[in-house]
Amino acid sequence: MRRLFITLVAVFVLTASMPTWAETHAQQQSFAEWLSALRDEARTKGISEATLDAALTGVEPIPRVIELDRRQPEFTWTFRKYMEKLVNNQRIAKGKQKLAENAKLLTEIGDKYGIQPRFLVAFWGLETDFGRLAEGYFSTIAALATLAHDGRRSAFFREQLLTALKIIDQGHISAERMKGSWAGAMGHFQFIPTTFDAYATDYDGDGKIDIWGNQGDAYASAANFLTKSGWKGDEIWGREVVLPQGFDFNLADMKVRKALSEWQALGVRKVGGANLPIPANSDMKASVIAPAGAQGPAFLVYKNYRTIMVWNRSIFYALAIGQLADRLVGLPAFTTLGPKDGRGLTHAEGKELQQRLSALGFDTGGVDGVVGPKSREAIRDFQRAAGLVPDGHPSVELLERVKKGI
Ligand code: CA
Repeated sequence: MRRLFITLVAVFVLTASMPTWAETHAQQQSFAEWLSALRDEARTKGISEATLDAALTGVEPIPRVIELDRRQPEFTWTFRKYMEKLVNNQRIAKGKQKLAENAKLLTEIGDKYGIQPRFLVAFWGLETDFGRLAEGYFSTIAALATLAHDGRRSAFFREQLLTALKIIDQGHISAERMKGSWAGAMGHFQFIPTTFDAYATDYDGDGKIDIWGNQGDAYASAANFLTKSGWKGDEIWGREVVLPQGFDFNLADMKVRKALSEWQALGVRKVGGANLPIPANSDMKASVIAPAGAQGPAFLVYKNYRTIMVWNRSIFYALAIGQLADRLVGLPAFTTLGPKDGRGLTHAEGKELQQRLSALGFDTGGVDGVVGPKSREAIRDFQRAAGLVPDGHPSVELLERVKKGI
């Protein structure tokens, strides 16, 4: 299952060397010709003429969608900044209110699918500010047609567009009401069309799946996605922990999975120093992560954390969901969010870091300015070679150190 990581706040677009809109456009068929061919393909897939008329008549590309697709992030947020923006007191207070207001429906759906209501509310909060932005601004058909006609990720968006037409054809929503983000994410939980097709569900039984206007349908669709992606309703997502002096940061990696008893033996403890809760007769495995590097907080994360990352691949996003869900039911705030004075690398600095690491023989898997898992692995390799703590954390200090070579 692949989902675009489109959240309200953090859109870090992968932008390698990209042609301008005019360059791309000149090389392509006219939009009208392209749309006509798309229409023929949709017809062969069984979409009715009535739907094609309603959805595609008068559709024009939206220049703003291309602008948003080409946007380069100026900087990346630190973990502290990200958490302060996404899980602030205002959002926690609003989330508590929404959890209480919708308790009956959330509990029914939570019981049916095996998802604790606080997590449904946390996703709802981060995706659309608890439904405030569920209606969306862009026509989904026009936005997806724009992106499918454009050269950058045509195949992906063409599939989304054809699936969106199928959803209209099935009668779940009219073409006119099908609105969402510039990249085709729709409704209370920002499902793209293929996610809708695979997971969305009609909870109230009226024959339509309405993830835009019906909270039952929206919650059940999110719950269905999570349960099918491996959610465990009797487990938490993870917890903040303290690491012992001299902890081997090679182990702070999602690829390393150990039983809680093994982490306990390595000196990992609950915040405050208590022993880890070790379940009897459980094969539960956990990973340790340090999202702000060795100087920041550490977390022990379980299966549900991995499931949150199926929804959105961002480590920070998954921790924000975990923390928001916890805070909604009165569990404590993280004790630290990492250095106060740090800042994230700018896009240009991210590129420079990747270029310099590559030049030193550490493979970053390309130079795009976005420091992802492959780049973090290269950072660890550099840190090991240079005798530093291998926490894989990109920072201004690290870039300065990389400039000096091994
Ligand atoms: Ca329904």
